[in-house]
Amino acid sequence: MAKAKRCVYFFGAGKADGRADMKELLGGKGANLAEMTSLGIPVPAGFTITTEVCTHFYKHSRRYPKELKIQVDRAVGGIEKVMGARFGNADNPLLVSCRSGARASMPGMMETVLNIGLTTGTIPGMIKLTGNPRFVWDAYRRLITMYTDVVMEKAAGLEPAEGKGIRQQLEHQMQQMKQRAGATGDTDLTAEHLKELTATYKKKVQEVLGKPFPDDAQEQLWGAIGAVFQSWNGKRAISYRRIEGIPDEWGTAVNVQAMVFGNMGDNSATGVAFTRNPATGENKFFGEWLANAQGEDVVAGIRTPNPLNEETRSDHSAGLQSLQHAMPAVYKQLVAIRNKLERHYRDMQDIEFTIQDGRLWMLQTRTGKRNGPAALRMAVEMMRERFIPKETGVTRVTPAQLDELLHPILDPKAEQTAGALAKGLPAGPGGAAGRIVFTAADAVAWAERGENVILCREETNPEDVEGMRAAKAILTARGGMTSHAALVARGWGKCCIVGAGALKIQAGAKTLSADATVLREGDWISLNGTKGLVYAGQLPTVDPDPENPRLVEFLKVCDSLRRLGVRANADTPEDARVARTFGAEGIGLVRTEHMFYGEGAEVPLFKLRKMILSGSEKERRAALAELFPHVKADLKGTLKAMAPYPVTIRLLDPPLHEFVPRDEAVQRELAESLGIDVAEIRKRGEQLHETNPMMGHRGVRLGITYPEVTEMQVRAILEGAAELHKEGVKARPEIMIPVTCAVAEIRDQADIIARVKAEVLKKFGLKKLDFLVGTMIEIPRAALTAGEMAQAAEFFSFGTNDLTQMGFGFSRDDIGAFMPDYLKKAILPADPFQTIDQTGIGELIRIGIERGRATRAKLKIGICGEHGGDPVSIHFCHRVGMDYVSCSPFRVPIARLAAAQIAVQDAQAKKGPARPKKKKKK
Ligand code: PEP
Ligand code: MG
Repeated sequence: MAKAKRCVYFFGAGKADGRADMKELLGGKGANLAEMTSLGIPVPAGFTITTEVCTHFYKHSRRYPKELKIQVDRAVGGIEKVMGARFGNADNPLLVSCRSGARASMPGMMETVLNIGLTTGTIPGMIKLTGNPRFVWDAYRRLITMYTDVVMEKAAGLEPAEGKGIRQQLEHQMQQMKQRAGATGDTDLTAEHLKELTATYKKKVQEVLGKPFPDDAQEQLWGAIGAVFQSWNGKRAISYRRIEGIPDEWGTAVNVQAMVFGNMGDNSATGVAFTRNPATGENKFFGEWLANAQGEDVVAGIRTPNPLNEETRSDHSAGLQSLQHAMPAVYKQLVAIRNKLERHYRDMQDIEFTIQDGRLWMLQTRTGKRNGPAALRMAVEMMRERFIPKETGVTRVTPAQLDELLHPILDPKAEQTAGALAKGLPAGPGGAAGRIVFTAADAVAWAERGENVILCREETNPEDVEGMRAAKAILTARGGMTSHAALVARGWGKCCIVGAGALKIQAGAKTLSADATVLREGDWISLNGTKGLVYAGQLPTVDPDPENPRLVEFLKVCDSLRRLGVRANADTPEDARVARTFGAEGIGLVRTEHMFYGEGAEVPLFKLRKMILSGSEKERRAALAELFPHVKADLKGTLKAMAPYPVTIRLLDPPLHEFVPRDEAVQRELAESLGIDVAEIRKRGEQLHETNPMMGHRGVRLGITYPEVTEMQVRAILEGAAELHKEGVKARPEIMIPVTCAVAEIRDQADIIARVKAEVLKKFGLKKLDFLVGTMIEIPRAALTAGEMAQAAEFFSFGTNDLTQMGFGFSRDDIGAFMPDYLKKAILPADPFQTIDQTGIGELIRIGIERGRATRAKLKIGICGEHGGDPVSIHFCHRVGMDYVSCSPFRVPIARLAAAQIAVQDAQAKKGPARPKKKKKK
C-alpha cells in the first residue's frame, strides 16, 4: 500500500520534523519554528499543516486530503505529551493557537485564532489550574471575539455593513459593560464582569449570526484551521499578493501550537523585537513589549508599548519601563537567543516572544523587513565584520531599497523655520509632501487622478493596504514601530510616521488637528519620515546625497563583483558631472539635440531652426557655420567632464517638426535672418510636416540627405577632442550613428567622418586621434543584419526604446490608450517600454549580438534605451553578454547594484546549488 502523504510536521521538546529550508512546504513561520526548536530554543510544542494541504483544499471544493484528520489527531497527541495537558480535557485542559504562515511574509493579511479549546467544560479546570479566574474569562472573551469574526463571519463569506461586523458589535458590548462597571481600561474589569460579558457575547453571536458559538474543542480547532485556509483567499490577502507579486498557487500553511500566555499577570508579557534596528540598521537589539498582554496587542498598536532595553529608549518611551529593568534574567536569556539566531541565520531577525509567569517562549523568527538605509547599513557592517561574504552582502539590498537612499528628503532649511505640528515615530525614511486623505479608498482614487496624497489614519489595519500603496506617505496617530503601518511601509520603503499621538485624526469628520490647527481633506502636509516630524503645508524637498559614505563603500563592493560596465545617458557637461558623482564610467548616450532645449538654449536653438528651415545647401552651410561654435563648446565641455572615460555622442536625431517655430515673432525673426518673408518660412515649416515622424526624416536619414549636417557635428566633436588633447585631457569620443537599418548608411557617414578626421588632424598638426565610430541598433532590420552592420561599426548600442517601438509596432508616444488594458488582461506581462520584452525584442538583441560579434569579435556592445536603468533588463543585458548598460545619472547606483547581483547569481548558478552543511556532532 502506498504510504500516506505527509500533511503534518511536528515540533516540540527540542525535536522537529521540519527545517528552515522547507519554507515552500511549511511556510516561513512553520519552517522557522521547526528550526528554532532544533536549535534548542524554547518554543511551545506544535505542528504545521503543509501548504500542499491548502492547495488541495482549493482544488477539491474546499475539502481536505483524507489522511489529514488522523495526522492532526496524532500531532495534537504529541503536543499533549510535551505540554502535559489534554486538549478538551475538563481537569487539565490544553489550549492551542491556530495561525497562518505563507512562504513569503504577509504581515497581518491572514487570520489567527487564539485560546482554542476553552469551553464551558474546560473553563473550570483552567481556573483551577491557573488560580486566576479573571485571566480565564478574559481569554474566553478574546476567543469568542476572534473566532466569531474570523471563522463564523469572514470565513463564512459574510460581509456585514460598515461598523456592523460581529467584532465591532461585541466590542460595543464591552464598552457598555465598562460604562456600567465604571471601568476606564479593559484591565479594570473583574472576573465577574468578564464572565457576565461572555454570556452577553454568546447571546449576541446567536442573535447576529444565527448560530451558537461552538462549545466543543475539536469543533473550534477544525473551524479555525478551515478559516486560516480560507483567509488565503480573503480580500486583503489577494490585494497584498497582487501588489507583492506573490503567486496564488503558493497557499498558506497552518500552524497549531500550544498556547502560552503573556497576560497571566504582571510576571507575564509579550513582545516583538528585531535583532538590529530595522529603521536605521544600527547593531542594537531593538524591540517593544507589553506586560500582562496577549499576542497581537503590541502589533495592533492599541497600547503604547515599552522599550526593550535602555540603549534603544526613545523620547516616546521615556518613563516606560524597559524589559531589561523589569525582568533582567529573562532579558538576558532573550539577548542570548538574539545572538544565537543572528549567528545561525546570518541576517537580522524579526522575533516574537511571550513570557508566561517569568518563563520565556519564542513564537516566531523570520528575516526582518527593513528600509533602504537600514538594509545598507546592515549589509555594510556585516560585510566589514566578515559576518557575511561580499557575495551575500550585495544581495542584501534590493534595487528598490537603494532607490530609497536616492530619494528626496524635506529641505532642511525649510524644516528649520517650519515648526513641526507633531512628532511621531520615524517608521519609514525620506521626506514627502502631499495632500491629506483619510481613507484608503480616497488615497487610491486621488492617486489615480495624479494627486500626491498622504494617507492619514488613526491607526492602519491590513484593510488599508491598497491605499497605503497608492499614497506617497503614511501618517498614523497611534501604534509603535512594529505596528502594521510601520511594517508595511518599511517593506515598501515608503516615507511613514506612526504614533504621532498629539494629532487627532478623525476619518469621519475628515479632519486632522493638533491643538488649534485643524487641517482638512485636500490640505497639504509634509512628513520627515527619518525624524518623525509632521508639518502643516507643502515643504520643498531636496535630492539625496550621492556621496553618502556607506553607499560609496557598498557600491565599491558591487563594482568589485560586476562584469557589466555602467554608463550614463547625459546630455550636458553638468549632467556628466552628476553622472560621475554617481559612479558612471562614461556616457553611453549624448542626445545632441537636447542641447537645444531648456535654459540658455535660445541662441543655439535659433540657429538650429535657421538650419532646419534653410532652402538650399548654401543657406544651410551658412546656418551650420553659425551653429558650429555652440555645438563644439558644449560637446567639448561634456568630453572634458567625463575624461578619461568614453563619451558616446549621437549624431543629431531630432524630430524636425518639434523644432519648427509656431510663434509668430520667432517666425518673423527667422525670416529676417534668412532674408526671406514670413510666408516662405511658414511654407518651409509645413513641408517638414510628416504623417509619421517617428519613421520619417530622422536619424541617419538626415545625414544622408544633408551630409553637411554630419560634417559640422563631426568637426565639432573632433576639434573639441583635439583641443582637449592639446590641453592634456584624454578625451575619448565615440561617434554614434542613429536609426540605421543598412550597412551602406554607416559607410556613407563613415566616409564623411574619415574626411573630416583628416582635415582636423592636419589643422591641429596631430598624427592620430582616438575615437570610435559605431551605430545604434534600434530598427529590427539593423538587428537582423548585424553581421553586415558590424563590418562598418566598431560598436553597437541598442536603442531599445525605438527597437521596442518598431519591434512591437507600438508607437512609444501613444501606448497610454491601450497599454493599461494589455496589462490588466495579462496580454503582456509588463510594459515593454519599462522592462525589456525578453521573448521578442530580447531575441532581436540576442541575434544582433551574435551576428555582430561573428563579424567583429571585439565589437563593443551596450544599451542606451530606458531599459538600461531597469534591474530586470540589466540582468538580461548581463546574460546576453553586453559590455555595458547606460541609464539616467540617478539610476547609475541601481544599475551598479543590479549588475553585481546578476554576476553573483550567475557565479552561483555555475557552481550549482549549495548543499546544506552537515551538523557537527558535539
Ligand atoms: C532609443 O531609441 O532607445 C534611444 C535611446 O533613442 P531615443 O530614445 O532618443 O530615440
Ligand atoms: Mg532612438
